[in-house]
Amino acid sequence: MTAITPFNKLKIIAHSNKIFQLLEGKIPAPVRIVLEPTNLCNHNCFFCSYTNFRSENKVFLPNEKLFELAKDFKKLGVKSVSLVGGGEPMIHPDIYDLIRWFYKNKIFISITTNGSSIREAEIDTIVRASTYIRVSLNAASTETHNLVNAPKNDQFERIINNIEKLRIHRDKVGANMLIGIRNAIHDKNFHEIEHMVALAEKLKVDYIMFAAVLWEFAASRESIDIAHRKIEELKKKSRIKISHSFYKEPKRTPKCISNPLIGTISANGDMYLCGFMDHADGAYKIGNVYEERFINLWGSKKHYEVYNSQDPEYCTKYICKMKEYDNVIRDVFVDDKMHIYSI
Ligand code: SF4
Repeated sequence: MTAITPFNKLKIIAHSNKIFQLLEGKIPAPVRIVLEPTNLCNHNCFFCSYTNFRSENKVFLPNEKLFELAKDFKKLGVKSVSLVGGGEPMIHPDIYDLIRWFYKNKIFISITTNGSSIREAEIDTIVRASTYIRVSLNAASTETHNLVNAPKNDQFERIINNIEKLRIHRDKVGANMLIGIRNAIHDKNFHEIEHMVALAEKLKVDYIMFAAVLWEFAASRESIDIAHRKIEELKKKSRIKISHSFYKEPKRTPKCISNPLIGTISANGDMYLCGFMDHADGAYKIGNVYEERFINLWGSKKHYEVYNSQDPEYCTKYICKMKEYDNVIRDVFVDDKMHIYSI
């Protein structure tokens, strides 16, 4: 049987009630929200795709708006909220109050972070409230971290300590949170691959993932080929899960079914059909939570209009996990390849 892990795309089947609604042309309440509390960041990664957006819009979602959203999520029955960039979510001044609120209200969170602003006094809250925390590290040394993530002062050791404290506390309380490290690979850091994996093993995190930064000649084909060979070797002997998305090509797929299972809200309050369309194309904007409450925007006439007018051609640019969910939906619910009623 396929392994039961958080990485198994068959988990979409658990949301069959919402899938049946989607297949009837209805927009169900979202399972998950991807929320950018701020687009400000205390790092300056040279490959960051939000740099332009950040230079034009320096914004925090203010306390009142964050909690208005949180209450709307609860009313809609949202199950999890991912705190992500735009910027670095953990530098938002109200982030720990928000995390505590989600925990108290039984909404799971997950965090994508550069790992520098984890408050020691809040580690217990993070560990108990989260399904995962993923640290964008991109280096195995202070020198490379300063070159790639470009913090204002040395932060690498502090981040490593934060990861270690999270893992030790997670193990101590037996929490179900995964801890991962993500490395964007390019010419400035591919030489540290072995050290990155050794560090992840030493920290006893659950997984390490690699992606290639291919644009603007940041990574030559040669360095990615070398990185790929090393990673494949390391995979054979490592104790932790290692993955990479090198050479993955975006696939052409039919019109997206599953994007309403995840809502996306930017730091400036914009709500788009999906995270890939965020900041990219006004045609896919559903509204802005400063102009209309989220709970009214979700499933609104405009939401249906945007959902029904999607051009699948737009999605061919992206390696998007929702395409894998859509494949499962088509195979299981449309074509009944599992004979789901013959249990
Ligand atoms: S990029 Fe396309 S396939 Fe992916 S979630 Fe958005 S609409 Fe769906």
